[in-house]
Amino acid sequence: LNNIAVLTSGGDAPGMNAAVRAVVRTGIYHQLNVYGIMYGYRGMLKNEIFPMESKSVANIIQRGGTILKTARCREFYEYEGRKMAYENLKKHNIDGLVVIGGDGSFNGAQKFSQEFDIPCIGLPGTIDKDIAGTDSTIGFDTAVNTAVEAIDKIRDTADAHDRLFVIEVMGRDAGYIALHSGISTGAEHILMPERKTEVNDIIEELQANERRRKLVNLIVVAEGDETGGAQEVGRIIKERCPQLDTRVSILGHIQRGGAPTCTDRILASRLGYAAVDALLEGIHNVMIGVVNDKIHYTPLDKAVKAKQEIDPEWFKIVKILAS
Ligand code: ATP
Repeated sequence: LNNIAVLTSGGDAPGMNAAVRAVVRTGIYHQLNVYGIMYGYRGMLKNEIFPMESKSVANIIQRGGTILKTARCREFYEYEGRKMAYENLKKHNIDGLVVIGGDGSFNGAQKFSQEFDIPCIGLPGTIDKDIAGTDSTIGFDTAVNTAVEAIDKIRDTADAHDRLFVIEVMGRDAGYIALHSGISTGAEHILMPERKTEVNDIIEELQANERRRKLVNLIVVAEGDETGGAQEVGRIIKERCPQLDTRVSILGHIQRGGAPTCTDRILASRLGYAAVDALLEGIHNVMIGVVNDKIHYTPLDKAVKAKQEIDPEWFKIVKILAS
């Protein structure tokens, strides 16, 4: 192993920079040449590949986004596109690739590593925490903390006006951001794709709350919940409980940005270091995660979106603590 490259791909997540920094500095420590690839697979295809030094990653551990930028790349789904990307890597004699991204990015890396002789390592970088083979993903902790901070602020104004707020957080396929932010802000209900919620039950509870003069209510909805997101939940409640002062708030892209939390920086640093370590050890074509606080390898083709069963006890906790 002499020359390795690193890229960020798919949706951005806070902490990606810390992971890039760890890959670059660990590589240099082991006397490897480290290259950065701009805009994910698109930059591989377009030969936007440049050598990185230790100082290229100075002052980025605390920054959100990704200095390598990220993109989605249609051509990489086709063999011809991947071949072009391979030829560009060969021009720089790259013999190891670290891909920081979500499961789509790992699918691409898996195909690429099967077709061409370049070992790939995947690092889970996504705010959704929905990837098999790791207890968390780079960006999740930051996104949840951003959501919590925003929901706390909404609670203040909800309290001042005795309002009901229906708040939408990110998570098209996974409800972890909703579950964690909902529990830690004392939400009355949490709606998420992993679990069907009957809106009727919510309405009945809201009416019961009103009878006992519990006037402030927060409902946290993951964007992918099958009821149809916060707008739809809000619409139904307004229709069925016109006496309540109901507002809808969609948190949106603030959840992707901002300085990564300590937890995400540590995870990213640990995984970036482990990626180079794995390449040096000859461990190839795996995603590296952390399971029970230990480094864990998952073959790239098994590192898929994981819709896990959510322990029903959590919903009991939500109900008891909000009553
Ligand atoms: P996130 O879940 O955070 O959005 P992701 O990595 O899953 O991140 P995708 O858009 O699914 O995001 O994938 C990123 C890129 O990986 C795609 O634009 C494409 O270039 C490549 N890719 C994804 N799936 C495949 C596949 N099946 N074959 C080849 N390349 C793929």
